[in-house]
Amino acid sequence: LNIHSTALYDTHDKRMGTLIIFRDITRIRLLETMHKDFAANVSHELKTPLTTIKGFIETLLQMTADSAGAPDQASVAQYSRFLGIIEKNVNRMVRLIDDLLALSRLERLKGTDIQLETHPLAGLIQKVVRFCADRAQSRGITMDVHCPDAIAGMVDPMLMEQAVFNLVDNAIKYSGEGTCITINAEFKDGNIEIQVKDSGQGIDAAHLPKVFNRFYRVDKGRSRDQGGTGLGLAIVKHIVQYHNGRIEVESRRGKGTCFTITLPGATES
Ligand code: ADP
Repeated sequence: LNIHSTALYDTHDKRMGTLIIFRDITRIRLLETMHKDFAANVSHELKTPLTTIKGFIETLLQMTADSAGAPDQASVAQYSRFLGIIEKNVNRMVRLIDDLLALSRLERLKGTDIQLETHPLAGLIQKVVRFCADRAQSRGITMDVHCPDAIAGMVDPMLMEQAVFNLVDNAIKYSGEGTCITINAEFKDGNIEIQVKDSGQGIDAAHLPKVFNRFYRVDKGRSRDQGGTGLGLAIVKHIVQYHNGRIEVESRRGKGTCFTITLPGATES
């Protein structure tokens, strides 16, 4: 609480009383802390791959300086392994920067910037599924879609595609071999519900309320190995809010997870 007091005088300099202003600065402090935490998280997330890249570049430079003449086969194999590690870390930074840009664009959007149009959801969902098909297949994961052609939502198609993609991408990342992901869209109580359900590792109840926070990850190592940035669900939440919708998650550890996007303004044709 911020307290400010001033003595009050009348025109004859006679003291009339005291004006005390109480200002609740909890929210301001909270925002300041969030900003600082965010900057610290971003710096850390960028510095980790950068340190690895720097280390491997220095090693490569040293190796080439030490090797007189043409490198032998073993050295070439090692060069290419190190370059592979550098590439992986560069890609990780690119993904992080792409997600940060997407998030900051979303945060600066105003209601009037969003182009909501009546758009069939089946095509949008099928596009995401086609895009993820190879990765799912390489892990022996099948994807099942149930979305009647008649379902059209008031959406910004590009943004909603991104939201559904992030959910399907997570479902693939956090599910095991031979599992199935179902993506359903249906009318319910005058709204549209889009569900992405997996039978993967699930999320403990204690973590569930935090998974939409920026950079929150249940298992940092696993998320990184899978190419995660910790920003995917924060992006989904923003997109859904811009559609005046809501997102909910249900999960059981070891059983699976179900994310549900509820959108208002359903039209049934
Ligand atoms: P990330 O890039 O780490 O996947 P997200 O913001 O997309 O970041 O998700 C935050 C965290 O929520 C993940 O790190 C993971 O721990 C958890 N999570 C998200 N989706 C799922 C899912 N379908 N199954 C299990 N855990 C999930």
